[in-house]
Amino acid sequence: MTKLFDLTGRVAIVTGGNGGIGLGMARGLAAAGASIVVVGRNTAKSEAAVAELMQARCKAISLTADVTDPVAVEAIMARTESKFGRVDILVNNAGMSIRKPPHELALDEWNMVLTTNLTSAFLCSQAAHAAMKRAGGGKIINIGSMMSIFGTSFAPAYAASKGGIVQFTRSCAVAWAPDNIQCNAILPGWIDTELTQTARRQVDGLHDKVLARTPAARWGAAEDFAGIAVFLGSAASDFVTGTAIPVDGGFSVQG
Ligand code: NDP
Repeated sequence: MTKLFDLTGRVAIVTGGNGGIGLGMARGLAAAGASIVVVGRNTAKSEAAVAELMQARCKAISLTADVTDPVAVEAIMARTESKFGRVDILVNNAGMSIRKPPHELALDEWNMVLTTNLTSAFLCSQAAHAAMKRAGGGKIINIGSMMSIFGTSFAPAYAASKGGIVQFTRSCAVAWAPDNIQCNAILPGWIDTELTQTARRQVDGLHDKVLARTPAARWGAAEDFAGIAVFLGSAASDFVTGTAIPVDGGFSVQG
């Protein structure tokens, strides 16, 4: 019988894998046996993440790239295939936010958030598609947000990008099912990372509001994403596609 959660011999690209939720998923995929390609703009941070993964006996490399640049994205796929011979798993995790209400957001700010969070997932998925077909199938894991579900006054572009991620995920799931590529989204709740440390400084009362609304009564941690990444990256999820799975300590089901 297939070992459902075994990723031995599999190759995973994690955009934004040098910290936060991305590194949490990279650690999980590595522990299940996958080789990891960490993609980010900050070379030193990516190299530190790779050093940590390699200490845990994982094969890993870092690639410095901006995932909003189509040429750089093609190079990520080419470098991954030349180093490891295949691409099995793509985690579209790179993301950012600009916290302003809609009436204050400039067009270039809107474009930057949409390009970083949504267009990058399109570029990386499109570039990975051919490589995954060559490998006989694949797994694409897109990172949404609670703002894929809810609206917010202080992050309209972010919410639009994360809503878009879910519909993009569903579209790829349908289009690429014949290629044996499963596409799913993870919707993180409120997770303690660099991104939300800034948010907590910028949004009054955010820390306590999140705690009060989260049934698990804590903020999430990067480690909370290891298991879902292994599930969605492995044979265990071969009949699961087009879903958007909250990993939120119950935040989205609290009435
Ligand atoms: P971090 O700020 O820690 O991570 C963001 C990552 O994205 C960094 O590794 C960064 O690397 C990378 N990145 C950003 N822009 C680019 C780019 N243009 N090209 C390549 N890499 C890029 O935040 P989180 O770990 O919190 O966020 C990870 C994902 O999870 C994001 O998509 C975020 O929206 C989502 N999320 C987070 C939540 C939370 O509560 N923390 C809640 C819901 C969703 P570098 O700087 O080296 O480029």
